[in-house]
Amino acid sequence: MSGSTRCLIAGNWKMNGMLQESLSFVNDMRENPAPEAVEVALMPPYTLLHALSKPFEDKGIRIGSQSMYFETSGAFTGSISPLMLRDAGCHYVILGHSERRDIMGEGNVILRKKLDAAWHAGLEPMFCIGEHLEEREAGTTNDVLKEQLSVLEGTDVNAPLTVAYEPVWAIGTGKTATPEQVSATHAFVHQELARLGRQCRVLYGGSVNPGNAESLMACEGVDGALVGGASLKADTFMEIIAAAARVAA
Ligand code: PEP
Repeated sequence: MSGSTRCLIAGNWKMNGMLQESLSFVNDMRENPAPEAVEVALMPPYTLLHALSKPFEDKGIRIGSQSMYFETSGAFTGSISPLMLRDAGCHYVILGHSERRDIMGEGNVILRKKLDAAWHAGLEPMFCIGEHLEEREAGTTNDVLKEQLSVLEGTDVNAPLTVAYEPVWAIGTGKTATPEQVSATHAFVHQELARLGRQCRVLYGGSVNPGNAESLMACEGVDGALVGGASLKADTFMEIIAAAARVAA
């Protein structure tokens, strides 16, 4: 981990979660063992945001959204605006997740609009970047990440931001990047962010689970984790939080 800042363990429930089971999840969450060192956040689907924001807050968990549209209001059927997310109690919004990039076709132009709109509404973007397997194998990982991060050029360096490095080949596959790959890539991402005038947390994401969380969190330049599948059950999510707390101790 990078040291001075509180690390962040964030859970992305993706398109999973019904009201009753999510309320049981909240009940099952035990106290964060190291709140001064580890921040915890969860991103449930839109339909649960209002219902969960207070119960999560009572447990010291920040709530965020998995996406949003960039307009404030109006004739955009099916869309959710940044102001609606603030109204629902959100602190974070995930932007640039590889599933949005690859399935919904979101690229740099739309992502810049979303970043600006999120900041304007007072949300903290959790900006995801990551390479595909062919790109890693071709040795172009850093070029891909640099291009994805170029969206931040000319933005207010003081606007709140968390970046998540998520190799696409490690998301939901059970494959994780090796500690060497993680340390080297995080070093590059921090360096690139510094070139853009930014110093912010860089999370790792991609099949993080209770068995690998401690070694991943111990990698140089890793400031927390964005967790998909393993955040769906309170006990596995708590084990990851506990692993981060041990590393931070
Ligand atoms: C993710 O959705 O951002 C993610 C990292 O998923 P998983 O942990 O399931 O690989």
